[in-house]
Amino acid sequence: MTKDLFREDSYLKSCEATITEINELNGIILDQTVFYPTGGGQPGDTGILKTVDGKEVKISTTVKSKENNDIIHVPAEGQDLPSIGTKVIAEINWETRYKYMRMHSAMHLMCSVVPCGVTGGQVGAEKSRLDFDIGEHTLDKEEITKAMNALIEADHETGTMHITTDELDANPDLVRTMSVQPPRIGGQIRLVKVGEDVDLQPCGGTHIKRTSEIGRILVSKIENKGKRNRRVNIVFDPA
Ligand SMILES: [Zn+2]
Repeated sequence: MTKDLFREDSYLKSCEATITEINELNGIILDQTVFYPTGGGQPGDTGILKTVDGKEVKISTTVKSKENNDIIHVPAEGQDLPSIGTKVIAEINWETRYKYMRMHSAMHLMCSVVPCGVTGGQVGAEKSRLDFDIGEHTLDKEEITKAMNALIEADHETGTMHITTDELDANPDLVRTMSVQPPRIGGQIRLVKVGEDVDLQPCGGTHIKRTSEIGRILVSKIENKGKRNRRVNIVFDPA
């Protein structure tokens, strides 16, 4: 099982690691990594693996193994791969990841602003979205923009805490995203908390430390996805 360093410190840009396996699809598995694997609506990281003799392997995405908790670094095609046992420096494309962290954290704020169940979502570097089952509610672009920016400006702290799977099962309301079940690792669930009472939900993604880091956002559009479903899209405010 790959040690996932980004879970404890999402600001790590690189780490030393050893190649422990190269799978049948040329996916590279390391003993530890800072690369976040695709999941929870957040794209997997891109970046490079550097060897001591100066070779670089470009990583085009990162995914999680379906069989176990290994994290698979997917190399761009047509590269010579180092052998198992090689020591590397694993370095993510930080500029993109930091945008994912800001966008992903903004999604938590949107959850707190929109009082409806989440049915899906996607984080991107330039735009992100959440889908809501709105029931009888109506959503307003300007109102959501204003409320989210107020939470961003309030500079709330974010943090993590852990509960057991039994505790989660006893408090099913904690799961905001109906379509995504939180990762259950070793009977433990990680909760991400924003502010004292802004948002609290299970999440395995990468987040910024303070909401002010997100910067101003803008709800670009709300799409109608059926009678009860609306898709709320955000971008970083270009102004
Ligand atoms: Zn999250």
